[in-house]
Amino acid sequence: MAKAESDGDAILWRLRGHSCPSCEDGTLVLKPYKGNRAVVCDGCDTPRAQVWDQV
Ligand SMILES: [Zn+2]
Repeated sequence: MAKAESDGDAILWRLRGHSCPSCEDGTLVLKPYKGNRAVVCDGCDTPRAQVWDQV
């Protein structure tokens, strides 16, 4: 029952590079957010997606 961790990562990679819906100039980048892997806007620092490690 090993669920691929790459499921969540795939979402992050898909969002990466998109423009931010919350601000004019932001671009979504892969960046840790509160200890989770996440996609965060480099303009306004809004996290668009996060992946929690499932325990
Ligand atoms: Zn933004």
